Amino acid sequence: MAKLTPMMEQYYEIKKEYADCLLFYRMGDFYEMFGPDAVVGSKALEITLTGKNAGAEGRIPMCGIPFHSADSYIAKLIDQGYKVAICEQVEDPKQAKGLVKRDVIRVITPGTLVDGTLLKADDANYLAAVFPCAKGYGIAYSDISTGEFMVSQVEGEGATYKIGDELSRINPSECLLPESLLKEEFFSLHAWDLESNIVLTPINDELFIRQNACELLMTHFKVASMESLGLKNCDGGILAAAALLNVIYTTQKRELSYINNLQVYSIENYLIMDANTRRNLELTSTMRNGKKAGSLYGVCDKTKTAAGSRLLKNWIEKPLLKADDINLRLDGIENITNQPIVHENLKTQLKEIYDLERLIGRVVYGNATPRDLIALKQSFGRLPDILSLVAALDANIFKSLYDNLDPMEDLFEAIDKTLKEEPPISPKEGGLIKDGFSNEIDELRYITGEGKDWLLKLEADEREKTGIKSLKVGFNKVFGYYLEVTKTNLDLVPDTYIRKQTLVNAERFITQELKEWENKILGAGEKLAAMEYSVFDELRQHIGKSTLRIQRTAKALAVLDCLVALATLAIENGYVKPMVDDGEIIALTAARHPVVELSIGRENYVPNDTYLDCKNNQFALITGPNMAGKSTYMRQVALAVIMARMGSYIPAQSGTIGLVDRIFTRVGASDDLAAGQSTFMVEMSETSNIIRNATKNSLIILDEIGRGTSTYDGLSIAWAVTEYILQPSLGAKTLFATHYHELIQIADSYPQVKNYSVAVKEKGDSIVFLRQIVEGGTDKSYGIHVAELAGLPKVIIRRAKEILAQLEVNHSEGQITLSDFASKYEEPAQVAESPILDEIRNLNIGNLRPVEALLLLEQWQNELKE
Ligand code: ADP
Ligand code: MG
Repeated sequence: MAKLTPMMEQYYEIKKEYADCLLFYRMGDFYEMFGPDAVVGSKALEITLTGKNAGAEGRIPMCGIPFHSADSYIAKLIDQGYKVAICEQVEDPKQAKGLVKRDVIRVITPGTLVDGTLLKADDANYLAAVFPCAKGYGIAYSDISTGEFMVSQVEGEGATYKIGDELSRINPSECLLPESLLKEEFFSLHAWDLESNIVLTPINDELFIRQNACELLMTHFKVASMESLGLKNCDGGILAAAALLNVIYTTQKRELSYINNLQVYSIENYLIMDANTRRNLELTSTMRNGKKAGSLYGVCDKTKTAAGSRLLKNWIEKPLLKADDINLRLDGIENITNQPIVHENLKTQLKEIYDLERLIGRVVYGNATPRDLIALKQSFGRLPDILSLVAALDANIFKSLYDNLDPMEDLFEAIDKTLKEEPPISPKEGGLIKDGFSNEIDELRYITGEGKDWLLKLEADEREKTGIKSLKVGFNKVFGYYLEVTKTNLDLVPDTYIRKQTLVNAERFITQELKEWENKILGAGEKLAAMEYSVFDELRQHIGKSTLRIQRTAKALAVLDCLVALATLAIENGYVKPMVDDGEIIALTAARHPVVELSIGRENYVPNDTYLDCKNNQFALITGPNMAGKSTYMRQVALAVIMARMGSYIPAQSGTIGLVDRIFTRVGASDDLAAGQSTFMVEMSETSNIIRNATKNSLIILDEIGRGTSTYDGLSIAWAVTEYILQPSLGAKTLFATHYHELIQIADSYPQVKNYSVAVKEKGDSIVFLRQIVEGGTDKSYGIHVAELAGLPKVIIRRAKEILAQLEVNHSEGQITLSDFASKYEEPAQVAESPILDEIRNLNIGNLRPVEALLLLEQWQNELKE
């Protein structure tokens, strides 16, 4: 039997270790995929599938992509959730005996991108890991492009829910999960609500033991104990962090010293919102199309830098708990708004700052280009001005920012004196080091650059000396540079010429001088490029030594950018500084919905007040017709709380926002159009999650819950949920919009419930929405009016009004009870026809005398009166 070709043997050997990746096998100027990889790859990339003779196996599928445009192909594959292993030749083919050695130099997965072109500037790209432990779960996540590395552990009751919520907040592109978790169908079991495009990568948890995990972490982070990492008694956190780090090492296969700061955090330090709440409130993307525009983030993001924009998103998703921390930010914003000139200048300066976090990542990683270093330099160049602007601000937060901002004058200097202002992208082809930086480089550059002139001069000189007018300087690969003399002039050739080659009509010579010059110039180009590269690489490494300094400065700049952006937002949109404290009151006057007011125009938006506390205003029940503005109103309250608690001004005339530990929002199934598959079951399990996790400091927003079932089930459930929330043991502040008017009776038995409704003006037969929230419930739904506004045919509207009138009559006479409402509702459609009608139909009018007709009429009238 024939054997595999040596190359395919090598291929399979390597492929074995990267079974879950598409293996890009380097051959000349191409990356090739073979076998099943080729079939998958060609389909995913829409490229032609060919074949290759593999020896024993005969022809196997093959496809390839050009090496120089690999980035875009890789991006396409990553985007579709594939992993790509890059297999390169790892020895010089010229030196290789037999088949060139190859090895995988990097694995690219959705969570481990570091390449500028594959990353989105606005979004962090996270790789996460979750690991169970005796107390709960550990979670770790990292953005390898910036070096951010976060670890937490979630313990106690509800840990499974909480970790799911945290994971969905992080929204990683890839998550490592122990096989045991994946096996248990953990996700469906615990309703982990993750974006569907997250790639789940199994980790073999049996291989993972605590001892090894600790060693890995201690070695990488250069510490002597788990305690100094803040991970003592945090087994889940340790395992998750180690699993994460391990995958980073195995995929990157490079220097990772810029990942140097493991930060332990507690989810309890932030205002917690589950995935559903964040989605419903459209915090960072809209429900309709998942875009940033139209979300709270879309409205708030006035940042000037990519890092600032990423941080702002983080602030929105993780509002703070401690009033002191919040006020630090608020005071900072106030300070900026009071200093318009400083504000303007800061905006101008920040605009010129590049993505320092990612740039330094690339510097340490070793793939920063000359242009990346110029970007660093230009950013550094702004720092002295920024520092003096920050110095002009006296709020407390600016003191710590000032201390963390390094002017980086030394690095600016180092880059400035070394690199040309507009260097090429590639560091390997020369032309990047400034003239005057090094004598050697200048000389080489002179030689390579001046070469032509020198030769022309030589030609002219020799013609002059010898008197041979047709003497020419030329070059060929075998003999190098030469002087060519035609046969007719051979007698004029001086002795110093050395014959090299004879042609039909001419002879070629060299001279001592030409030879020496040639030695210098040949290889000068290569030598120059190599020398420039080594200067560049040295510079890169030099900058790499300042990683910590640059990271700290980058972080401070991002915070500064956020504060400046929020100040801009406050001014442009007319927001005010909220009073933030640890109290229990949420009070807003003339508040607006930050997104809706922009889309319909500020002047068209009707502002509303809110007052919630833990006493007589704990529970606001809001009734009102469809389209009145109930949902918008409740969301605007939640958004004001989130904005205030992230340290932003709010869209209102004034506001006091007390402690809020969690926000829950639930939207009734039939309202939740975006989710599509939402069912009553989902609605109820979400509601039970609220009931289990809410505290008296939580804010609950219930929008038409109990809709996804028949009227009385829904009403009963809504009623029971309301009563439950009203128990003193729970007592969360709640806004509840409902179309079940019956619920307004609850206020009679519970003093902490206040009824509200959205004002509507009746205008003849139709209505006008006033969008004003007023005290008192409404017992009218105006559903028919809304139907009319929506353009339902007149006949239907007329009939609906008849039925409604009938129902209302029966209702007021006590003939209709809650429990038989549904069956009564059917009745009007089946009302038996009066027998009189039949008589009229069958009447033969031709035979009827006028008196008889009158008598009949009288009889019918009497019958109808009975
Ligand atoms: P409901 O939940 O009562 O059915 P929505 O909150 O969905 O009503 O509001 C319906 C529409 O009314 C929204 O699309 C919005 O454009 C408009 N709207 C809501 N509140 C206001 C307001 N305060 N001022 C102006 N327009 C509003
Ligand atoms: Mg609504």
